Amino acid sequence: MSLGSGPRELVVLGTAGAVPTRERNHNGYVLRWDGTSVLFDPGEGIQRQMLHAGVSSPRIERICVTHRHNDHCLGVPGVLNRMAQDRPGRPVTVHGPEDAFEHLRALAVVAQANVRVTVQGHPALDEEVPIADVAGSALTARALDHRVPALGYRLTEPGHVTFSRDALAAAGISGPDVGRLQREGELRGVRLEDVSTHRPGQVVAFVMDTRLCPAVGAVVRDADLAVLECTFAERDAHLATARGHLTARQAGDVAARAGVRTLVLTHVSARYDAAELGAEARTAVAAAGGTTTVHVAQDLDVVAVPPRVGRG
Ligand SMILES: [Zn+2]
Repeated sequence: MSLGSGPRELVVLGTAGAVPTRERNHNGYVLRWDGTSVLFDPGEGIQRQMLHAGVSSPRIERICVTHRHNDHCLGVPGVLNRMAQDRPGRPVTVHGPEDAFEHLRALAVVAQANVRVTVQGHPALDEEVPIADVAGSALTARALDHRVPALGYRLTEPGHVTFSRDALAAAGISGPDVGRLQREGELRGVRLEDVSTHRPGQVVAFVMDTRLCPAVGAVVRDADLAVLECTFAERDAHLATARGHLTARQAGDVAARAGVRTLVLTHVSARYDAAELGAEARTAVAAAGGTTTVHVAQDLDVVAVPPRVGRG
C-alpha cells in the first residue's frame, strides 16, 4: 500500500549490455517510491534519458551502483551535474560496494557539482546488510558473484498487522499481551492470525551483473518486482559463467522459484533478439511451475510495482 505521494514504479532509462546500440542506451533505472526516487546503475547518457523519460532529478535522493564496471556508473557525473542545476546544495548519497568506493568518489569529484555528495562503500557480504531507509522502507544490499565485487539491492516495505478489536476481546487478550502476541506469534493458544489481518509490504529487488549463485534467489525472494540482468541466452551458458552473468533461462528459473511476481529482464546484448530471451525466460518460469510475469525491458518503459493484496 502506498503511504506517500506518487506511484510506485520503475522507469527504465537504459537497457544495453556492455555497449549501447541504436535502440538501447547504457543502463539506468529509476524506482519511484512514495514521492522519493532511487537511481540504479546510471551508465553513459542517462542524463539525457532522464529527460526523455520525464524523470526529474530533484526527487532522486540516492544513487545505487551495483559494481564499478563503467556501463553501470559512468553516468554518475552527468547526473550530479544535472542535480546541481535543478537543486543546488541538496544532498545525494551514492551507494556501492566497498570495492567501488574510490571509483565512485572519483566520478563524484570530476562532476565538480554543487551538490552535497556522500559516497558510501558497503561490504559485499553473504547476508543482507541494511544500508538506508527509503521513505520508511528498508534498503539492503547483499554480495553477488561477478568478476569484481557486486551488490544486489532489495527494498522492503514493512508489513502491517491490523488487530480485530472484537477477536481480541473474544480471545481475552488485552493490554501488553497484544504486543507479546505480535512479537511471539502465539499466546495462550491464540495465534496472531486468529485475531488480526496481515498485509505484507511490497518488495522490489535489483540484480545486475552476476553469475548464478544462491544470493540471486535470496535477493529477489517474494519480490513484487525484480529487475534481473540476462546478458546471455542459455545456448551460451558457458560464456555467462565465465564472464559472470546470467542467462535468460537462469533468470526466469530463479525468479519463478523465488516467487517473484513481475520479472523485468534487462542488460540485453546486441547479439540476441530480445524476444528470444523473453521466450526462454517464460519457458523456464513455466518449467519451474511459477506464475512470474516476464517483461523484457526496452528503454523508456515504465513498469508499475504490482499492488499487494491483504492476507487474512
Ligand atoms: Zn559488470
